[in-house]
Amino acid sequence: MTQTVEKKHLYLAGEKKEASSYKQLRSPHTGEVIADVAVGTRADMKKAIDHADIAAKEMAKMPAHRRAAILQEVSRLLAERKEEAARILALEAAKPITVARGEIARTVETYQFAADEARRLHGETIPLDASAMGENRVAYTVREPLGVVGAITPFNFPFNLVAHKLGPAFAAGNVVVLKPADQTPLSSYFIADLFEEAGLPAGALQVIPGPGSEVGDELTIDPRVKLVTFTGSPEVGTLIRQKAGLKRVVLELGSNSGLIIDEGYDIDRIVKRTVTGAFTFMGQVCISLQRIYVHRSLYDAFVEKFVVETNNLRIGDPLDESTDISALISQRDVDRIAEWVDEAHKLGARVLTGGTEGSIVKPTVIVDVPPHAKVSCQETFAPVVVISPYDELDEAIDAVNDSRFGLQAGFYTNDIERAFYASDRLEVGGVMINDFPTFRVDQMPYGGVKESGMGREGIKYATEEMTEMKLICFNRN
Ligand code: NAD
Repeated sequence: MTQTVEKKHLYLAGEKKEASSYKQLRSPHTGEVIADVAVGTRADMKKAIDHADIAAKEMAKMPAHRRAAILQEVSRLLAERKEEAARILALEAAKPITVARGEIARTVETYQFAADEARRLHGETIPLDASAMGENRVAYTVREPLGVVGAITPFNFPFNLVAHKLGPAFAAGNVVVLKPADQTPLSSYFIADLFEEAGLPAGALQVIPGPGSEVGDELTIDPRVKLVTFTGSPEVGTLIRQKAGLKRVVLELGSNSGLIIDEGYDIDRIVKRTVTGAFTFMGQVCISLQRIYVHRSLYDAFVEKFVVETNNLRIGDPLDESTDISALISQRDVDRIAEWVDEAHKLGARVLTGGTEGSIVKPTVIVDVPPHAKVSCQETFAPVVVISPYDELDEAIDAVNDSRFGLQAGFYTNDIERAFYASDRLEVGGVMINDFPTFRVDQMPYGGVKESGMGREGIKYATEEMTEMKLICFNRN
């Protein structure tokens, strides 16, 4: 008997519209078909932008308190339906259910922060009389919406990373055309329904899934889109930057985040936390802990404890309450990791635990890895961690900085002077003292240097990026 699955149409101009074709969406864990999802075309995206352009004019007139109320209501509705939402994540992303619930809880908060930001967004007065030419003038700035925001999102946090785009965009009074990741579009449909229920005007949010090189590309090049906010791989981010012309671009890209553990630190306090940083959601986290540099005096003991803790992780069905590790997002990624680990092995590395099995990459711990091995210098985006010893702090800082990426770094130390020393020198967007680089709460500024991106997210910062500052100057002479 063939089971019918739900059809997900284009979400265009506030309506569910038939697409010219549909693609089967499969669960990464079971391989079962879980939905038939519209494959948007370039023409569909053009239509969505036509509608967005009209909706933007209406949205710009919406007062802040109404924008805040809509965002607040979405937060409330999501909290009400949190279990349903978490199960979507488990199904489409193979996200272990306990981790999925964590993402939903964060998303509920992210929309609350966005509601707060809608109420708080303000300009400033400028003391023009600081110049003799400015005497007897009054000036102030206001923050105006940009209009149409294009959002392109990755598969890994399809609720929360989408919230980091929709929340600030609506807080600032923009409209959004969203191109969700091919692997995880169901969460975007879910949230679009909540926005509709919360009273967002039709056409202010449209969801057009489809091939990135077609629908994502159209969103990138259309001049009516005033800002593209992209989270995803550095390769696609670079392409978007090249094609976006003069429109604003915010890029949140990858990393191979590093952590330093200083001499004298109590490693028993942090073994569990570092294992969490490396293996949560199978390392498919942009700030996943990939490289750990441990002072030589602690190295052997740390590695031993880390491996023991790693081997306690439970592999299984994402819907099972006790599962820590489930299927990687695609078989292609499993094969890629098997090759990378094999390369490291050939370069002299030792794999202390791990390996691949079907759709699973078991949590993998590797030592004696040369820095040019892919598992160290590229972004693995998988449950693979490299641990190395160091003697001098500068050596460890240089090792963390010896990377194309610079998103976040962590430093565990008992010495405040060394904490300042390392924070000054680590080339990243955020330094976490006495924590792993994987720490993020949703109101903090978040973003990278080097190939990790440009611009900042975090609701306040992203909201500002999504506005135009206008100066108003009164001459009283
Ligand atoms: P990806 O770059 O493959 O895809 C991201 C999105 O871009 C998808 O929606 C995809 O369809 C679209 N896309 C593909 N080609 C395109 C094109 N030519 N033009 C426009 N859009 C196109 O990324 P992914 O595999 O979904 O996610 C993993 C990557 O995302 C990792 O590198 C990870 O580090 C990064 N990431 C970064 C952050 C951050 O905040 N810095 C957060 C999460 C994930």
